Amino acid sequence: MTTAIAVANQKGGVGKTTTTINLGAALARLGHGVLIVDFDPQANASASLNVRPEPGRSSYDLVLGHATLLEVVVPSGQEMLSIIPATSDLAGAEIELAAALGREFRLKTALEGVAMSYNFVLIDCPPSVGLLTVNALTAAHEVIIPVQCEYLALEGLGQFTNTLELVRRNLNRGLRLRGLLLTMYDRRTTLSQQVADEVRRHFPNTFRAVIPRSVRAAEAPSHGLPIQAYDPSSPAAIAYGELAEEMLRKEGEAMEVAP
Ligand code: ADP
Ligand code: MG
Repeated sequence: MTTAIAVANQKGGVGKTTTTINLGAALARLGHGVLIVDFDPQANASASLNVRPEPGRSSYDLVLGHATLLEVVVPSGQEMLSIIPATSDLAGAEIELAAALGREFRLKTALEGVAMSYNFVLIDCPPSVGLLTVNALTAAHEVIIPVQCEYLALEGLGQFTNTLELVRRNLNRGLRLRGLLLTMYDRRTTLSQQVADEVRRHFPNTFRAVIPRSVRAAEAPSHGLPIQAYDPSSPAAIAYGELAEEMLRKEGEAMEVAP
């Protein structure tokens, strides 16, 4: 059985891509087959693993039906971890699919058949709630929402959980909110602590694992590596490992999206 997880938040810069890569790498290191789908036209996940798609072999080509699943999956350089890379072409899909039949189900349909090969599919979403994110939420069984431990962290979250609920009602009945993930936590600041407390108060299904702010985590992508390969003993690597273990422990316990 494959669990497809959308890593989503309409806000940019909250740690979606960093979480997709490093959670993926952590799960792979624990022996699980992981496929990352770069579904953001910024293609940061692809760049973070130093992967460039061959022409005509990106997530854009997959959802437009120009290429098959087998044609677009490439190795990431990490054992057990593969990726479907993106290019900026993907921005066009938002418009090209707008009038297409079954436009919200393109990614879901394209990923059918993946079930035999991977335990987890992690979809890195763009910072918006357009058709790309809706496709990701429709293809997913679960959602992880990274939340940066900064001022206004909760702003927009209510709106985003409303979007989840709309998708759940209209497109994907089984969609579950797996959890909120506190990212870029700085234990030296009271602000981080306050934000973490407030997020936990509003969303009891916030992961216990907290990702610390770490220079090493920010550096790793420029070397094309997940943090576990770049600096396995760094606090961020350990935290992503804890997140992976927490997820595996609670497999099947994900909560319904709150109305
Ligand atoms: P998003 O995908 O939500 O836009 P990113 O994962 O790209 O967010 O993160 C935004 C920026 O913050 C990037 O420059 C990234 O390297 C940095 N970053 C992410 N997580 C951490 C962390 N735990 N510590 C330090 N920097 C981080
Ligand atoms: Mg990103």
